[in-house]
Amino acid sequence: MDLIFFGMQGAGKGTLGKAVAEKYNMKFFETGTELRKLSTETSPLAKKIQAILEAGELVSNEIVMEIVENFLNNLPNKETPVLFDGIPRKRSQGESLNTLLDKHQRKYKAVLIKISKETALKRLTTRRICPKCKAVYPLAYEKNTCENCTIELETRSDDNPDAIKKRLEIYEKETIPTLELYKNKLVEIDGEPTIEDVKILAFEALNDLMSK
Ligand code: AMP
Repeated sequence: MDLIFFGMQGAGKGTLGKAVAEKYNMKFFETGTELRKLSTETSPLAKKIQAILEAGELVSNEIVMEIVENFLNNLPNKETPVLFDGIPRKRSQGESLNTLLDKHQRKYKAVLIKISKETALKRLTTRRICPKCKAVYPLAYEKNTCENCTIELETRSDDNPDAIKKRLEIYEKETIPTLELYKNKLVEIDGEPTIEDVKILAFEALNDLMSK
């Protein structure tokens, strides 16, 4: 069973997604990370993607679906479940993603991690990431270096106030209406508690589903 993770930026999708993917032996598809990886290449497409990311706007469906299809084609085997993070961001992308998953005969459910806009803003303006392994560190993390790579943490270039505002607006306008496509397949999880508590809630909600 594939899982499609939804949640406002800062909901903990990435951190929770990685924990869920590990627990249920799933491959993790993190759209933002895949795009950031691509944007560091030297091609004209990479430059275009880089400019879109810096502005906090959405990369075209066509580019994103090509990356997803490539990922599905490269799975170790067809039965490997996938956890999708950061996709779909808008209704048309949800329709394209569902068509692609149906074409590949994959079963899927959606998971929504719910937080308030105030919590999202607070978390996004104070978090730091490791430039190498992309681990996310909240305000409460007191060191300046990554636990895994021991290199200095940075603020993500699109975690600036203007890009954050734009990303939250896009979430409200584009992503929330997308949830309708999954209304009969949706598992909701409270994302307000600490990440450790949210993990417990998520495993409780997903255990049955993932053991089928
Ligand atoms: P994220 O790491 O999820 O916050 O995404 C960072 C940036 O990558 C976004 O602000 C968009 O520019 C781009 N991006 C991520 N996911 C998508 C997607 N599903 N469709 C289009 N653009 C995306």
